[in-house]
Amino acid sequence: MYDLLIRNATIYDGTENEEALHGAIAIAGDTIASVGHCDGTARRTLDADGLVACPAFIDIHSHADLNILAKPTAPNYLKMGVGTVATGQCGISMAPLGTTEELFALSKNSTGGAVPEDARFQWTWRGFGEFCRLVEEIRPGVNILPMVGHGSARTAVSGFRKEPLGGEDIARLVNLLDDALREGAWGVSTGLFYPPGCFSSEAEMDAVFRLLGRRKALHATHMRDESDFVVECVAENIALARRWGFPLQISHHKASGRKNRGKVRTTMEMLRRARDEGLDVAWDAYPYHASSTGITICLPDRALEGGKEAMLARLRDPDTRTALRREMLENPHSIFPRESPPESIMIANCPALPRDQGRMLSDILGNGSPEERTERFFDWLLACGGDARAIFFAMDEEDVAYVISRPGTIIGSDSRIADPADDGAPHPRVFGTFPRFLRHFVLERNLLSLGEGIHRITGLPAKRLGLRDRGVLRPGARADIVLFDPSRLDGGPGFGEPPRFAEGIVHLFVNGVAAVEEGRLTSSRSGRVCLKTSTGT
Ligand SMILES: [Zn+2]
Repeated sequence: MYDLLIRNATIYDGTENEEALHGAIAIAGDTIASVGHCDGTARRTLDADGLVACPAFIDIHSHADLNILAKPTAPNYLKMGVGTVATGQCGISMAPLGTTEELFALSKNSTGGAVPEDARFQWTWRGFGEFCRLVEEIRPGVNILPMVGHGSARTAVSGFRKEPLGGEDIARLVNLLDDALREGAWGVSTGLFYPPGCFSSEAEMDAVFRLLGRRKALHATHMRDESDFVVECVAENIALARRWGFPLQISHHKASGRKNRGKVRTTMEMLRRARDEGLDVAWDAYPYHASSTGITICLPDRALEGGKEAMLARLRDPDTRTALRREMLENPHSIFPRESPPESIMIANCPALPRDQGRMLSDILGNGSPEERTERFFDWLLACGGDARAIFFAMDEEDVAYVISRPGTIIGSDSRIADPADDGAPHPRVFGTFPRFLRHFVLERNLLSLGEGIHRITGLPAKRLGLRDRGVLRPGARADIVLFDPSRLDGGPGFGEPPRFAEGIVHLFVNGVAAVEEGRLTSSRSGRVCLKTSTGT
C-alpha cells in the first residue's frame, strides 16, 4: 500500500522531455514509487484535476543558509514551490566561521545584512560539517545543498582585511575549502565583487582554482564585474575553467547599467562556444530586471575594509570623507554616480529608518550638485548605521528575457528566507521567483514551453549540481513534488510593495511530507541537509 496517490495530474517529469503525461504519482515513505499509471491502493488519495505536478523546484542560487537557523521553516521558499536550495553563494557561507562579528561584517557588505544579528541561536560552530549538522538538527523546511564560500573561508583565516594573504594563510584557506568539500560541500562559491573577495591576490585565487580543478568541484561565481566589464569577466572565467579544469557556474548572469544593454548577447554566444569546445560551463539568472544587495556596495571597496564600524568611522572623518567623495565621483567603475544613479536605486530594508523603505534614493537625497548629493548620501548612511538593503534597477528587461530564453539558462532566486511579517519592501524575487518565472516568462510571454520551463527549475539544476535523486519524477527518486494551478500562479509583491507570499502553489511535498496543503503552509519541516557524496546524494 502506498502512502499517497496523486491522481488525475498533468505531469511534467522535470527531464528534457517537454511533453506532459496525464496520470498518477504514487509515493511510499519519502520515495516515489511510480509515475504515470499506478495500480494499488493508498492511505491517502489526492485528486489533482486541473493541477500541474512536477518535481519540487530547486533553487540553484540561494542565500537561505544565512538565516536558516533563525527561520528554519523557510516559508517563502515553500510558498514558491521550492523543495531544495543550493546555499553558500556569492562567496558567503555560514561556515567555516572565524568570529561571529566578522561574519556579520561579511554579510552586511555583501547582502545588506542577511545574517540576523539578533539571532536566536548560539554561534557555537566553526567548521563546515559542524554547521551542516546544526541545520539538520533544527529540521529545515526545505532541503539544503550547502556550498562553501571563499569569502567566509578567507575571513576565517585572516579576518575582514584588505592585505593580501601570505603563503601560509593561502595554504590555510585552501585547507579550509578542501575540508568543506570533503565534508560534503557541493562546490565553492566566490564573490570577487565584494569584500573580502575583491581583496584577493592572483596567487590566492590560483591556489583556490587549483584545488577546484583537482577536485573537479563546481565553482559558482558572482563575477568581479557585471557591468562595464561583463564581457571581459565572462571571458576571464571561461579561460579559468579551461586552464584549471573546474566546472563553472556563472551566478545571476546579467549586464548592469544602461550603456551595457545588449552585452548579454555577446556573453551568451561566448558561453555557447565554450560549451561547443567541451568546457563544463553553465549559468543562472533571476527573472527580474533589478538586482538587490547591501547599499554599501555604492562605496569604494577601501571604504568597507574592516567592516561596518570602520566604514562608519571613515564617513565621520572629514578628510577620509572628502577623499571617498572624490573617488566616487571620479572613478568610472564606481556604481553610484554613473552606472546606477540614485534615480535607479530603491531602499528595500532599512531598520533604522523605516520611513525610507520603498523610497527611491534620489527622493531621499533630494536635488543638488553631485557633490551635495554624495555628502547627503554619506549622512544618510551614518543615520542608518550603514544598514540597508537596496534594489538597483540597472538591467534591461529585454536582456533579462533574452538570457532566460536561451537554452541552458537555469533560474535561481538569489534570496534569503523571509516571511510576510518582515519589515520593508524586499526585492520581489524573495517571495516570487519561481511562480513569476513560470507565469510571466513561460505562460504569458511563451519564451519557453511549460515543460522546458519546469526543466530549468528542476531536472536541469539537479543535473548541474550532480544531485541524482531529486529534480526528476521517477520511481526511486525522493518524493519532492509540487502541484500548482497554472491559472493562479502569481509572483507575490511588486517592487516597493510590502512582503506577501506568492500564489498558485497548491500542494508541496518535501521528502514525501506535505509542506503546503491546499495552498496553506503546514509545519512539517521535512527538509534535510543533503551532502555531496562520491555517488551523489
Ligand atoms: Zn551574488
